[in-house]
Amino acid sequence: MKTHILGFPRIGQDRELKKALESYWRGDSHIGELELCGRRLRQHHWFQQADAGLDFVTVGDFAYYDQMLNTSALVGAAPKRFGEQQGDISLDTQFLMARGRAPGHADVPAQEMTKWFDTNYHYLVPELSADQEFSLSSQQLFNEVAEAQALSLPVKAVLIGPVTYLWLSKCAGESFDKLSLLERLLPVYAQILQKLADLGVTWVQIDEPVLSLDLPQAWQGALELAYHRLQRRDINLLVATYFSPLAENLWLASHLPVAGLHIDGVRAAHEVQAVVDQLPEYKVLSLGIINGRNIWRSDLNALLETIQPVHQRLKDRLWLSCSCSLLHVPVDVKREDALPEGLQHWLAFATQKLDELTILKQALLTPNDARVQTALKAAAYSAQQRKADSRWRNDTVRSEVEQLSHADAQRKSDFTQREVAQAQALDLPLLPTTTIGSFPQTAAIRRARADFKAGNLSAEAYNKAMEAEIATAISEQEALGIDVLVHGEAERNDMVEYFGEQLEGFVFTRFGWVQSYGSRCVKPPIIVGDVSRPQPMTVAWTRYAQSLTNKPVKGMLTGPVTLLCWSFVRDDIPRSEVALQLALAVRKEVVDLEQAGIGIIQIDEPAFREGLPLRKSEQNAYWAWAVRAFRISASGVVDQTQIHTHMCYSEFNDCINHIAAMDADVITIETARSGMALLQAFEDFDYPNGIGPGVYDIHSPRVPETQAMAHLLTLAARRIPLQRLWVNPDCGLKTRQWPEVRAALTHMVEATQQLRQQLQQPLQASR
Ligand code: GLN
Ligand code: ZN
Repeated sequence: MKTHILGFPRIGQDRELKKALESYWRGDSHIGELELCGRRLRQHHWFQQADAGLDFVTVGDFAYYDQMLNTSALVGAAPKRFGEQQGDISLDTQFLMARGRAPGHADVPAQEMTKWFDTNYHYLVPELSADQEFSLSSQQLFNEVAEAQALSLPVKAVLIGPVTYLWLSKCAGESFDKLSLLERLLPVYAQILQKLADLGVTWVQIDEPVLSLDLPQAWQGALELAYHRLQRRDINLLVATYFSPLAENLWLASHLPVAGLHIDGVRAAHEVQAVVDQLPEYKVLSLGIINGRNIWRSDLNALLETIQPVHQRLKDRLWLSCSCSLLHVPVDVKREDALPEGLQHWLAFATQKLDELTILKQALLTPNDARVQTALKAAAYSAQQRKADSRWRNDTVRSEVEQLSHADAQRKSDFTQREVAQAQALDLPLLPTTTIGSFPQTAAIRRARADFKAGNLSAEAYNKAMEAEIATAISEQEALGIDVLVHGEAERNDMVEYFGEQLEGFVFTRFGWVQSYGSRCVKPPIIVGDVSRPQPMTVAWTRYAQSLTNKPVKGMLTGPVTLLCWSFVRDDIPRSEVALQLALAVRKEVVDLEQAGIGIIQIDEPAFREGLPLRKSEQNAYWAWAVRAFRISASGVVDQTQIHTHMCYSEFNDCINHIAAMDADVITIETARSGMALLQAFEDFDYPNGIGPGVYDIHSPRVPETQAMAHLLTLAARRIPLQRLWVNPDCGLKTRQWPEVRAALTHMVEATQQLRQQLQQPLQASR
């Protein structure tokens, strides 16, 4: 029996890679220093795996920026705009592809970035053309294998599979059947395997997480073809899938002509038996039994009960692993010395998960070993403690959730009636202008927050500083002539952390960083128990902002589904239930804001789509509870109060009906980057409520021209009834600078005025 992991976090326990990357990008260090940092991290992580007793160290999971980008370099898929490639694709070219800028290069549009399956990790979308050629164009993987071998470590190499690579890529230029490129891609994969075999590698993990999707038949066929083609005697392939059940791909996955199959034993736990039944005699099953998506210490005893019968059947053909790469969890819980009493022992980050695998293996092979017995008892004790600990249990909240009725998820009246009431109460012009919430987080703001947190700035002084920022934001917006103002979110570091810090049931780690993309990391909070809101969270700031202006100030909250998706959630309370607890907390805040005289309240849900399960068969259940949670958060108010929501990075085409079911009075969404392509969804489906399709792409420092925004607005006006059309940027402005923001919003208001005027001319002419 062997133990291994699919991948380890590469950013480093102190985010060493982030620091090295950013220093290199700033021009403060040499590429050699960056490469040294990479080499040290890899070595450290391999030794961690070996020292923990794993049978393999995983090589090829490291990336300076992203594993999909690595694969594009490996197969030589760099679009022409990044320069003619002679020989290998350099690290600088990879950075150019990722960021649109690199030392000694003119800026070019970067490759698109999107979410890796249902995670908050973003990969760089390969851009392939119909006449795409592939060729082996990076030595990184082979160098890393040699590095590990030089340390006498037992190597298992890892690659992203050819079918997943194509599935996740996009067509550059006109659209074509991406599968037509498979024939050209496979020879490069064959070459890669040849090189790995030459290096003496015996096992290669090939990730094909597309097996966890509802695949069209042609793509199922492509998997079959690819692995028939890649068969060879001198190397064993382990095809890995994760994040979802195999469902109708179960037979296919079990019978691919490869040496082994890895499955997600957490999310596809109910399929383990069927896979064991299907698996041909010669094959290894790598069972991903330790959760790679969560941070709770496993109840190893419970897991053993699942594994033992499998072990009896498969014997040595059973391997143990984590469900997916550990990329999605922080590195080491040992350093979290500031957590509430006892909590550290309930958690397992990547480092601890390595040990869990070894204990499981020993428990199967040498069950009577005293150390194994102790370890199992400790795990059982921790699981028990967590369940029993009343500090995190709140029976009031539980019964409040139980008592939620159908009416609680229902506004008092339909949108058509609310629309009238709101028009009277708010008296807004046609095409009202607004922003998404945040204004630039300046160095001064960040310094004040850091000083306050470190105890170097009194609460009073900090409040004064934030009030001054709010006053600035309000007067800027007044000067710009915006119709619905925001307070600017100066006091918020992060839209989840800010609320989590004020809610019961959340705890925060000190070093629990998880890579989001490139050098960017997030530190998701942990929802340790029942969630409740002890007191108002945003009312004072919002009320202050409203006191400064006669225009409406929009209250700004993070919605229940996003709070859930961007946290680590308990694995012994259903997500749907935690979502309802969060919804209740947000609802109370909404009601308090209304009571404080705030007439418009936005409940942000940028992660609404991300929480959607990958399998269609599981999606309806998700929509049902997610939509209900949002509606509960939004429905405590009177008709006159206008509820907004905001989403970004969303694909709406296949779920617009569920978005409509949220019944927000206004939704603001990202559309500028795609030139309003998203609005197709609104054409095919008659979205009933107000919409603000973003006319200003805030992700780029470029200031869009008035005409460009006017054009987008006209496109939107063709599809959305004017009475329901709002004008706003794509997303919050916190990452931008004031001069750009001022210029861009001036243009946005101008574009709006132009359109308003044009709309009036026919009226005047007909008089
Ligand atoms: N209100 C938030 C902001 O403006 C929304 C951020 C988001 O959608 N990710 O920053
Ligand atoms: Zn956004």
